[in-house]
Amino acid sequence: MISTKENRKYDRQIKLPNFGIEGQKRLKSSKILVIGAGGLGSAVLYYLTCAGVGNIGIVDPDKVDLTNLNRQILYFESDLEKSKISSAIEKLSQLNPDVNFIKYNHSLLSDNAEKIIKEYDFVVEASDNFKTKFLVNDVCVKLGKPFVIGGVFQFEGQLMTVLPKKTACYRCAFKDAPEKGSYPTTSEHGIMGTTAGFFGIVEANEAIKYIVFKEPEKLLLNQILYTDLLHNSFETFAIQRDESCSVCSDITL
Ligand SMILES: [Zn+2]
Repeated sequence: MISTKENRKYDRQIKLPNFGIEGQKRLKSSKILVIGAGGLGSAVLYYLTCAGVGNIGIVDPDKVDLTNLNRQILYFESDLEKSKISSAIEKLSQLNPDVNFIKYNHSLLSDNAEKIIKEYDFVVEASDNFKTKFLVNDVCVKLGKPFVIGGVFQFEGQLMTVLPKKTACYRCAFKDAPEKGSYPTTSEHGIMGTTAGFFGIVEANEAIKYIVFKEPEKLLLNQILYTDLLHNSFETFAIQRDESCSVCSDITL
């Protein structure tokens, strides 16, 4: 059921073509998991919350640090040293008190990922490390959970959406996590807040479209969006399912 207040609050999206009250009901009854409440996650959480997603799980073990504040828009200077999850939910609950938030105040690890992810309809991977990205891919493919996965660095970012066993997965595109220390990190080389915000918004948009429209052709499937915001370059690259993928192929290696 959508209340009179909700009908008014979400008026401008309910009026979108093919969205309607039915789309809003789908959002309200949906459960979306956001892994990481940092630069990407802040933007993801902001937009999922104001769109009226009924149930939002948040996984993040960290506390707010001064270096977070150039991009992690859910946190203020008054939140320094506080838990990110509690600080985030404090703001998001004011933004939209009708959303139910579920806290996971710890890291996503191989021994807890399945138990958490299986509770959700869609997963937004918004972490800052390859280990978590590959773990989310592998568990989501195993459980058949659709997800969007993204990464940002300086002014650049890339992003793809995966419908497990139907479209190319993160491992089809990138094989294995690079060795720690073999790739540049944002803590060493920087990240512009707007880059994280932009990609977080595209991730939230993919999640909302998946829930509302149920039309795969509207999603970033079998392709990677690559954007360089320093040079205003916006491109998509086609990728294919790897028939020998160690995770999503039917071949047991
Ligand atoms: Zn694959």
